[in-house]
Amino acid sequence: MQKCNKCKLPFKWSKIYNSVMWFYKPIQCEKCGADYKIYFPSRLIGAFFVLPIPIFGLILSPFDNELINILTGICISFTGSLLITFLVKYKNVNT
Ligand SMILES: [Zn+2]
Repeated sequence: MQKCNKCKLPFKWSKIYNSVMWFYKPIQCEKCGADYKIYFPSRLIGAFFVLPIPIFGLILSPFDNELINILTGICISFTGSLLITFLVKYKNVNT
C-alpha cells in the first residue's frame, strides 16, 4: 500500500478503492493534505476489472449457461477491483 511522500502516512485501502471507483479521482492525504493523482500507467490496470465480464461472457464462455458465464466474469471483476488498490500508484501533484 502506498504511503504519503511527505508524512509517510499510508493511504487507507478504502480511500484508494473509492478513488478507483470514481474513475481515478485524485486523493488527498488525511494528515498533511498533500494531493495525489493516479500515475497514468496505473489507469491501464483498470482493464483488469473491466475486461473479465466481456471475456468470460462472450469470448471464453466456459459454461453452457450464459448467466453463469456473466456471473463468473462479474466475480472475477469484483476480485480484480479489490486487488487493484494494491497495484495502482499515485503521484504527488503539489511538488
Ligand atoms: Zn501526508
